[in-house]
Amino acid sequence: MRIRCPHCGERDNGEFSYLGDAAPVRPDGMEAEAGAMHDYVYLRDNRAGEIRELWYHGAGCRSWLIVTRDTRTHAISDVSPARDVALARRRGDAA
Ligand SMILES: [Zn+2]
Repeated sequence: MRIRCPHCGERDNGEFSYLGDAAPVRPDGMEAEAGAMHDYVYLRDNRAGEIRELWYHGAGCRSWLIVTRDTRTHAISDVSPARDVALARRRGDAA
C-alpha cells in the first residue's frame, strides 16, 4: 500500500505508523463522566468500508495525517494534515 503524503508525495506505507480510527474525540478529563475515558481508549467499531485513520509519517516529514481508506480494498481517497482537520473541526466545518 502506498500513501500520498501532502508534504512528501507518494511513499511506501512502511514509512508510516498506523495509529487507528481518527473519529473518536478525547473527552475533557475535567468534565467527562467516569466511563467516558474508558470508552475513548478501548472501544472501537470494526467497520467495513471507508474510514478516517490517523497515520504518522515518521520516516518522512514527521507529520500526523488523516488518511481516508476503504478497509475492504485499501483504496485511499484522501490524505490531509491532521492539523488542518482538527482546526476545521474546531471551527465547526464538516471535516
Ligand atoms: Zn510526509
